[in-house]
Amino acid sequence: MMDVVAFGAHPDDVEICCGGLIALLVQQGKRVALCDLTRGELGTRGTPGLRAQEADRAATILGAAQRVQLDLGDGHLDTSHERRAAVVEVLREMQPKLVIAPMLSDLHPDHAVAGALVKSAFYLARIRKWGSSGHHRANHLVHFFQHELDQASFVVDISSTMKVKHEAIRCYQSQLFDPSSTEPGTQISSQSFLEVVETRDRHHGSLIGSQFGEPFYQTAPPRVVNTFDLFLP
Ligand SMILES: [Zn+2]
Repeated sequence: MMDVVAFGAHPDDVEICCGGLIALLVQQGKRVALCDLTRGELGTRGTPGLRAQEADRAATILGAAQRVQLDLGDGHLDTSHERRAAVVEVLREMQPKLVIAPMLSDLHPDHAVAGALVKSAFYLARIRKWGSSGHHRANHLVHFFQHELDQASFVVDISSTMKVKHEAIRCYQSQLFDPSSTEPGTQISSQSFLEVVETRDRHHGSLIGSQFGEPFYQTAPPRVVNTFDLFLP
C-alpha cells in the first residue's frame, strides 16, 4: 500500500518536474511509489537498460518505496483499453490516496497522453465492475508541468528538498551533459540543463515567497477549510 503514486511518461520525467515534492512527501513520512509508463526506449542517448539502472538509483535518492516501469511504448502512448487497464492495475495494487501525473497538455505527445491516461485510470479504478482486479478510489489527482508552465493551481515550497532533487536528476548520467560523449546532443544533455531546472524552480518559488517551488495543476479546485491559515507565511 502506498500513500502516493507519481506517474511519468519516461524515466526522469518525475525527477525533473516533481522530484522536490516527492522528496518532501517522503520526509513527511509518506510511502511514495514512482511509475514510469514507458522504458524511454526512444531516448537519443543511452539504452533502456542503462536508464532503468539510473532510474532505480534516482528513486533511492528520493526515498521512494518502490519504482515500477511499465512498457507501454515510448512514442506510442495512447488511451487504449489495454493501456488504461495497465494503469488501473497499478492504482488498485498500490492503493494511493494521492496520484501525481503529467499535465494534460504538453508539447511532447507522450506527456499529454500520459496525463489523460492516468486521469482515465484514476476514475476507472474505482468502478467495481471495470475489470476484475478489485477497485480503489484515490482522493486526489494533481498534474505536474513539463514544457508548458502557465496553468498552475498551486506551488509547493521545495526549498528544503531542492538539493535532493538535483542529486536524483544527476543519476541520469547517460542523459546529461558529458563532454566526452559522442552521442547526439539533446535538451537535457546541454551544459546548462540543471541551471534551467534550478531557474524554473526559483521562479516558481518567487511566486510564493520561497526560495524554490514546483507548480501543479488540479482539475478540481482545492478544498479550503481554514482560509486564514492558507495565507499565512
Ligand atoms: Zn518525458
